Amino acid sequence: MGVGRFAPSPTGQLHLGNLRTAILAWLFAKSTDRQCLLRVEDLDRVRSGAEEQQLSELAAIGLEFDSPLVRQSERLPVYLDAIQSLRDKDLLFECFCTRKDISEAASAPHAAPGAYPGTCRNLSPEERAEKAKERPAALRLRAAVAQFTVHDVIFGQYTGVVDDFVLLRNDGSPAYNLAVVVDDGAYGIDQVVRGDDLLSSAPRQAYLAQLLGMPIPTYAHVPLALNSQGQRLAKRDGAVTLEDLSEKGVNGAQIRAYLLESLGLPGTSLQAALDSFNPDDLPREPWVVEPEFIVDQLMPPASRNR
Ligand code: GLU
Repeated sequence: MGVGRFAPSPTGQLHLGNLRTAILAWLFAKSTDRQCLLRVEDLDRVRSGAEEQQLSELAAIGLEFDSPLVRQSERLPVYLDAIQSLRDKDLLFECFCTRKDISEAASAPHAAPGAYPGTCRNLSPEERAEKAKERPAALRLRAAVAQFTVHDVIFGQYTGVVDDFVLLRNDGSPAYNLAVVVDDGAYGIDQVVRGDDLLSSAPRQAYLAQLLGMPIPTYAHVPLALNSQGQRLAKRDGAVTLEDLSEKGVNGAQIRAYLLESLGLPGTSLQAALDSFNPDDLPREPWVVEPEFIVDQLMPPASRNR
């Protein structure tokens, strides 16, 4: 049996857009007879209490995930093993660049947009020793390609940049791209469903999976939630979290129904949604959330508690 996953970062409460992506990850997995794991991406930017809160928010909309619950912070040795295996194949190099060094070099006219400019790729041992006196090194992948093509259920064939991306940061912590690929491989995840802001990371991740001898998953990058100004939805946009909405008297089941209906699916239950789920019918446009209307749509006027 295959495995899908939802992989939130515990930086705060999940908002309606995150919950909608979680529902989609679950529907994609279950409609293809896969398990669906929950992975807590807590290697950095963690807010205390956020993991518990996110787990209870997912439970409140009725989503149940399969075991085990994976926590990246507990898997450091596994990421370091992967680093070692790439180092053994001479696929890594030390990079001493600051963000500023990179943005200056990357703005040069010949640089590929968004790609590491290659500054430290071919340093001599002497140059490396000299730079190491200034600051610790990050480890970057020595990529042998400049682009890579993945297949996405929603976007079709997608070709994007692969550069010498960071795998181990200069504070010794694994980078997001490394941890995602190692975990997806380790747990047999063969279906990745997430927001389409990460589509451009998929070619790098698929290329790395291949180098690590792991199968490349099927991708489905789903539309993001936006606010009425067309910006990515955020907590400050108003009543967009379960907590905000429950203060106004809206419960988890009503929110689930609202999210399912926004996907063109029946809102009565997850099972009903699963029975009519077809990826080809999903909305392709971003989902615009107008918090001021949500409470009006969900609550009959007599029971409104503002
Ligand atoms: N943790 C990432 C996020 O919350 C998602 C990573 C992934 O799904 O690959 O944006």
